[in-house]
Amino acid sequence: MAKVVGGGAKKILYTLNTLKKIGIKKSAKALLSNNTCKACGLGMGGQLGGMTNELGEFPSVCNKSIQAQSSDIQAAIPNEIFKHSVDELRELSPHELEHIGRLNTPLYKAKGAQHFKPVDWDWAIDYGAQKFQAVQPDKSFFYTSGRSSNEAGFLLQLAARAYGTNNINNCSYYCHQATSVGLESTIGTGTATIELEDLKACDLIFVIGANPASNHPRFVHQLKNCKDRGGHVIVINPAKEAGLVRFSVPKSAKSILTGGTKIASLYLQPNIGGDLALFKGIAKALIQTTQINDAFIQAYCEDFDQFKVDIDNTPWQTIIEASGVTKAQIEQCASLYAQSKQVVFAWGMGMTHHTFGSQNVEYIANLAMLRGMLGKRYAGLLPLRGHSNVQGIGTIGVKPVLAQDVFTKIEHCFKIKLKREKGLDTYHALKAAYANTIDCAMIMGGNLYQASPNSPWVAQALDKINFKVFLTTTLNQGHLYGIDSGETLILPVKARDEEPQATTQESMFNYVRMSDGGIQRLDNTRSEVHILAKFAQALMPNSPIDFGAFNTFKNIRSAIADIIPGMAELKNIDVAKAEFHIKGRRLYQPVFKTSSGKARFITCPLPPKNTKQDYPFLLASIRSEGQFNSIIYEEKDSYRHNATRDCLLISPQDIKTLALLEGARVDVISEFGRLNNMRIVAFDITPGNVLAYYPEANVLTGNELDSRSLTPNFKSIKVMVKPTSVT
Ligand code: SF4
Repeated sequence: MAKVVGGGAKKILYTLNTLKKIGIKKSAKALLSNNTCKACGLGMGGQLGGMTNELGEFPSVCNKSIQAQSSDIQAAIPNEIFKHSVDELRELSPHELEHIGRLNTPLYKAKGAQHFKPVDWDWAIDYGAQKFQAVQPDKSFFYTSGRSSNEAGFLLQLAARAYGTNNINNCSYYCHQATSVGLESTIGTGTATIELEDLKACDLIFVIGANPASNHPRFVHQLKNCKDRGGHVIVINPAKEAGLVRFSVPKSAKSILTGGTKIASLYLQPNIGGDLALFKGIAKALIQTTQINDAFIQAYCEDFDQFKVDIDNTPWQTIIEASGVTKAQIEQCASLYAQSKQVVFAWGMGMTHHTFGSQNVEYIANLAMLRGMLGKRYAGLLPLRGHSNVQGIGTIGVKPVLAQDVFTKIEHCFKIKLKREKGLDTYHALKAAYANTIDCAMIMGGNLYQASPNSPWVAQALDKINFKVFLTTTLNQGHLYGIDSGETLILPVKARDEEPQATTQESMFNYVRMSDGGIQRLDNTRSEVHILAKFAQALMPNSPIDFGAFNTFKNIRSAIADIIPGMAELKNIDVAKAEFHIKGRRLYQPVFKTSSGKARFITCPLPPKNTKQDYPFLLASIRSEGQFNSIIYEEKDSYRHNATRDCLLISPQDIKTLALLEGARVDVISEFGRLNNMRIVAFDITPGNVLAYYPEANVLTGNELDSRSLTPNFKSIKVMVKPTSVT
């Protein structure tokens, strides 16, 4: 197996390579401009300048940020490309599609046609509006990725609600919705309880079900800083990930020469889906050694007694078997936790992508409550968010349910009456499409086809929608699959740093940044806001809402400031240039927004065992170093030393048990689909568990959801592994 070190010289060379490909001058201009980073939700850039965090620290390199720029800096796709049929375009890999250039002309494909044809902007928007006018609003849905601005997101949801539907959703239903649900039930809020500065003085950080070395690169520097000041990092992840074992800081020669810093003080590798058992084990060890904070629990929490009864009644043997972690390791973890005074719990989609994702998050909150790690500085809860504005998109209302007071404020502000019933979330919008009850869809950004579970099913669901309009910067498989039977419009949009006016974004620390925009690259793209304003005017010519006024983005911010709690400072952000933390989100006093004002211990049983003997392995889908969400920037995964993505990562012990050799080809089969001809790669993972790259592995996922958050089960998929038969 490969030696495990992240960061360092390799990262520098990798970054330089990417910079060279896109041109150093162009890259520097884009990377240093006053725009929010377009990649992860950690949040860099904005008014302090590119790659600067909210504390004014200027990082050395972040290849995720550079990868994101590399797509946007491309030249336009020549129109000749569209002389090729849809089938021919489908022959391109996701990586090739991302790299054929930027879209620079609206495209239309008629029902049953095999080709896209370039069309005029005015025709495209008017035609799109006519199609939506011709259907009942509840037979449509509106979807947004987390890359759009607050301004575009607010306008999209307002237009959709004014049109008559609450079928409005975003990509968080495929990532952190379980976090929102789990935090609401325990502490009464759905986002991080800390800000970046709190990471500067904590003495223990838990990193659970996440691989920040590849997905939130600058967060690893916070882990290293914690270690450097004598603190600890506990990693909980079924797979041993390079950058979480050792990490060398690319800008520090000393760090590189010394082989970097050991990041994980303790690295626990539970079974996929064994986290709840592990959390119960940590709680049991703390309770048995009387190292819980009784005073905090008595004063600020409720429902502890039933939680304790369940822990007392869960035998160690059950915990050890279900978690796959030894009692000694669990006790070591509890002991490190008990020694620490200011503890932050950070987690990623390894926690949320299960049918019990909400419970996983509740048990993380339970652990924090046990030792009073809420309601004070330098300690708390930190969901690691994916897209750079996924949190903001939820804040400003791109979701199927709004708080009643937000509905009332929208109605009051715009003098309209809105339907208040719950709309369809992302998965159920697709399910409705599959049942032939969706006629039109607007899909802004992202790659809904590839991001969804059960790829063959979702292709059929999308294909049953008569008319789809996509807003996007580049082409991806989401624009090519599920489009055979209906009509499709593709509208090319400006990237964040090309917007003609300032836009805003929110980080996972609840920090709102402003992006100046202003870079000019392509001549026939439009701002999402301008497209949506014109579309809404054409769709609802008699609306009491003056959608034309929203061509001035400041007017949208003013409406958000009046309507969305905690956002008052947005109104004048373009004048004051003052970026801000959203009011009421940081939790520095143990007063919770639950009905009782107390944090609530939640008790739930362990998930059922995998009893399907035909499918003895649990598979989790993972992202590579060369990708961000569904976007494939590089085929290779440099940290895991894989040159291609057709790999099944499996333990050496399981390779032996299956009588295979490394490099052998296998088929990976679930109840829902199969991945054929996968290359066996030995990886440090607990036996019985395997990994494959997302989104390709979505052919294996079925339609199981966490019933509370409606997040699909992307990470505990039951599979069998069979040698590929040579025919
Ligand atoms: S850590 Fe995330 S927000 Fe910061 S520069 Fe890298 S990709 Fe951008």
